[in-house]
Amino acid sequence: MNNDQFWDQFLNIINSKLNSISFNTWFKDAKLVKFTDNTLTIDVGSKYKKDYISKFYDDLLEETISSITGREYNIEVVTPDEIKEEVIIEEEPILPRYKDANSNLNPSYTFENFVVGDSNRLAQAVALGVAEQPGKLYNPLFIYGKSGLGKTHLMHAIGNFVTANSDKTVLYVTSEKFIDDFIGITKKDEENYDVVQHFKEKYRNIDVLIIDDIQFLGGANKTQDEFFNTFNFLHGLNKQIIISSDRSPDDLKVLEERLRTRFTWGLTVNIMPPDYELRLKILKNKMAGHEVSRLIKPEVLEYIANNCESDVRHLEGAVNRLYAYTAIYSPKEINLEFAQEALKDYIGTSLYITNNITKIQKAVAEYFDITVENLKSKKRTANINNARQIAMYICKMTTEETIERIGLEFNRNHATVIHSCDKIEQEYKTNETLRQQIKEIKDKIAN
Ligand code: ADP
Ligand code: MG
Repeated sequence: MNNDQFWDQFLNIINSKLNSISFNTWFKDAKLVKFTDNTLTIDVGSKYKKDYISKFYDDLLEETISSITGREYNIEVVTPDEIKEEVIIEEEPILPRYKDANSNLNPSYTFENFVVGDSNRLAQAVALGVAEQPGKLYNPLFIYGKSGLGKTHLMHAIGNFVTANSDKTVLYVTSEKFIDDFIGITKKDEENYDVVQHFKEKYRNIDVLIIDDIQFLGGANKTQDEFFNTFNFLHGLNKQIIISSDRSPDDLKVLEERLRTRFTWGLTVNIMPPDYELRLKILKNKMAGHEVSRLIKPEVLEYIANNCESDVRHLEGAVNRLYAYTAIYSPKEINLEFAQEALKDYIGTSLYITNNITKIQKAVAEYFDITVENLKSKKRTANINNARQIAMYICKMTTEETIERIGLEFNRNHATVIHSCDKIEQEYKTNETLRQQIKEIKDKIAN
């Protein structure tokens, strides 16, 4: 591996760990200056970036280099002014014990940093089981779920675990990569033999095959044939196969029946979107140890968890944006106002919407002397339940929100919201106390 290849890989790993805004802000234009036996020197372009990177990304740089080389290096972050003329870039750095050169595993995706909640608990447990007993437990393991929910993360975690705890060999590929490799075979007619041989060696000489995003294998019939052969070969030898997709085997209509059938031979698990609790937990986990976690007010975490409900990638994006903003404006504390400004474009229109619901939740909670957390929790004690129903009812009556949206803010499904609102609506007709309560809460909100 020469300097250029090393540097590409280095930046790729960093890129995979950061949201694109952060990566583009801090590392896109970074240059490799020097790479000696002990020290890696990087030019990051400006004094401001140098200070920021040294402060907040030191660990990331260190982890990245040791994941590539298997040992520690000193990292020197410099500005163009500091680079002395006489520095000569060495052509071929010596990279001792270059680890896992061909597994394609991303060392930053591990079980340790995979946060577990109700929506991914089964998938995580099954994945760990497979990592501990490759080929013995569930074969194949088929993981499916919408984009951004952690499928790729879990698959790399399995691969990293296997490599760290056994001498088994792992290969991670996306289905696009598999297609590319396969097309490589069919193209080269002349020296076909070598290419085919290489393909077979690559895909059959392994203990664990991980194929990500199998839905993209569709449409390429010959490739499906070859995948079918590879699958049978490995499966016959009890080699572990792990597959991910954005939909269940039944819904993978683009794939041949015989493949879909095989996918269900082992175990199929689904990852669901994270609920509010898990989103909050992931946020805390992502920020742990970072400067920002010292400055941040709890309501900011709630705000982000409330507004980025679709997937984990979105949550990470918000966190990284907050980091960048914090670095630029150096606030004394990160309060709601600051976060709303920072995330204005990112969170978009839901800002106004949530403000409404959030405001109502606050007012109701204060009125009944409970917390907003209580309102959103699963607790069903009479007073909390009653307050929650009233809050939902007020949201429905006084905002433009959809029932779904209200449900999300209360961690309830839409049937529950409808039921709650109907109930309060009925009572409202006959219960004078309730009418009075709702009036007082509305006054509170208006002020
Ligand atoms: P998918 O492959 O399902 O589209 P990814 O595995 O690429 O999703 O996940 C998107 C991002 O969210 C990744 O950076 C990943 O590390 C992170 N992520 C997803 N789920 C979790 C989790 N439970 N804990 C920590 N990070 C997560
Ligand atoms: Mg993925």
